[in-house]
Amino acid sequence: DIRTFAPQDNCLNGKTILVTGAGDGIGRIAALTYARYGATVLLLGRTTSKLEAVYDEIESLGGKQPAMLPMDLEKATYSEMQQLEGLIVKEIGQLDGILHNAGILGELTPLEMYDVDTFAKVMQVNFTATFMLTQALLPLLKDADNGSIVFTSSTVGTYPRAFWGAYALSKQAVEGMSDIFTQETQNTTRLRFNCINPGGTRTNMRAHAFPGENPMSLKTPEDIMAGYVCLMSDDSIGVRGQVVALQPKD
Ligand code: NDP
Repeated sequence: DIRTFAPQDNCLNGKTILVTGAGDGIGRIAALTYARYGATVLLLGRTTSKLEAVYDEIESLGGKQPAMLPMDLEKATYSEMQQLEGLIVKEIGQLDGILHNAGILGELTPLEMYDVDTFAKVMQVNFTATFMLTQALLPLLKDADNGSIVFTSSTVGTYPRAFWGAYALSKQAVEGMSDIFTQETQNTTRLRFNCINPGGTRTNMRAHAFPGENPMSLKTPEDIMAGYVCLMSDDSIGVRGQVVALQPKD
């Protein structure tokens, strides 16, 4: 079971993993955890000071030297993402995994009233930029021995829910994209595509979505890392096209 997976100490040794939204919340803890299990981590995010803090934390824990990739996924162009691919080839030489974790909530409101600019922004960050970055980095990932692309969904990405608007729709599109990539590549590459649904987790985003909730009643990002490590490690070779829910419910 992926949720209760007990990772071996060096299970990500030799792997280079890019994490988007690595400066805060679940992405920050995933980056630290991947480094702890031996990976070289590429920290992508929009707030450089937050990336620097994670960078320093990895260094002080004795992890492999990470790299910072400041990028705002709302504004980044496809050609900037292709340049990023060139940079990774030149400076690091390989890419074994991407954790697509960056995301924004947008508004919780009926579609009838949903602000269209916010709608476009949420779709851009959560879905379109995720697609663009995946496509731009695909040549590198197909060269990896056992590449793994992990998208981040949500319960509302599997089951549409009233008032969750663009967020729910963006996550449904992400799940569909993971499925389509899986179908289109399963006979031609070892690269695998899966989605994680972290379930309700103690972060800023969750606090915005559920302001009345006691954060202490929620699991922390640390509590759910087994699944994040498992899907990146060679222990999950053969797991393709899944939506892995890390908690029984949110
Ligand atoms: P947070 O809001 O705590 O963190 C989101 C991260 O994404 C931040 O590091 C943020 O950077 C980054 N980010 C946001 N916009 C951009 C952008 N335009 N360009 C680059 N980076 C960006 O969220 P969580 O940690 O809670 O969520 C992580 C993922 O998990 C999301 O995809 C979310 O939808 C999903 N999820 C979370 C759940 C939960 O309960 N927490 C439940 C289900 C799914 P910065 O800090 O610089 O703004």
